[in-house]
Amino acid sequence: MLLIGKLKAHRAWHGLVLSLRACLLACALAWPVAVAAGELPPNELGRVMILEYHKIDQPEERWTRTPANFRRDLERLWEGGYRLVALNDFVDGKIAIPRGTTPVILTFDDSSPGQFKLIEKNGEWVVDPDCAVGILEAFERRHPEFGHAATFFVLPGADPPNRLFNQKELATRKLQYLASRGYEIGNHTLWHANLAKYPERVVRQQIATAQEWIQRHVPTYRIRTLALPMGAYPSNIRWTIEGAEGQISYRHDAILMVAGGAAPSPFARAFDPYHLPRIQALESELGRWLSYFEKNPQERYVSDGDPGVITVPAGSMDKVKRSIGMKVVERP
Ligand SMILES: [Zn+2]
Repeated sequence: MLLIGKLKAHRAWHGLVLSLRACLLACALAWPVAVAAGELPPNELGRVMILEYHKIDQPEERWTRTPANFRRDLERLWEGGYRLVALNDFVDGKIAIPRGTTPVILTFDDSSPGQFKLIEKNGEWVVDPDCAVGILEAFERRHPEFGHAATFFVLPGADPPNRLFNQKELATRKLQYLASRGYEIGNHTLWHANLAKYPERVVRQQIATAQEWIQRHVPTYRIRTLALPMGAYPSNIRWTIEGAEGQISYRHDAILMVAGGAAPSPFARAFDPYHLPRIQALESELGRWLSYFEKNPQERYVSDGDPGVITVPAGSMDKVKRSIGMKVVERP
């Protein structure tokens, strides 16, 4: 009897703990969404920040963000209601984030060592907690709802320290790590060539050879995006979009610039995947754009929580791109 009594009490206690847990989880999930939705109505024609990072290192400089500042950027984005979306998903119009939140895209150019470093710990290679990948993953463990995505525009033929994150013997392991964990790898040419300076043949060689050298490490990985070194377009944009050089053929669904501000929504008429603007993630630029969207919340992309329906402000149907293949509703 005593035993059964104890068992029942234990079960009741266990049940209480479980329902408390479920409630806490539900509250934790619902709370930020409810608050954000109360503040910001859906606007899936709003603009999206594609952030562009270079070095993650010490000290803070024009092209360097310190690990501490990168952590703080993630914190500010999270608290501001931003959620990570993969660049390829953005280009495809697959934005699956909670109602009331805003997509943000992280990109890293030039494959410098501080973006992705492995260190040896008890005979095993582990991600350095102070490199960009390590910082992102630690942040994600604390805030899984922030999302998981980043695109690395790497240089497979650059001089050290920019050749594939500068740990030569670990290049394959690192690129496979990125591809298998849902990060994206993008083309940034073979060795950061200014494509405006070269004829068609060289432009195509730079792009095709970069892809070939990346695929030596991740043979089945399909590279879908190109970030132009220094934002320089060649004299004919078509050379960057698709083509072949020798045995290698390439096709890009998006071409990224180095500046230009927040990007149009992929559902907006103004969206041009071959001229995607970015925001350089410096203190001044990032701060300016975060406060711009705070002061002008109607400019910001805000999700309706349903990836299959596009919700736009009343009277803005004419700004929606044709043939998006999704249901579009006007917000009352
Ligand atoms: Zn670059």
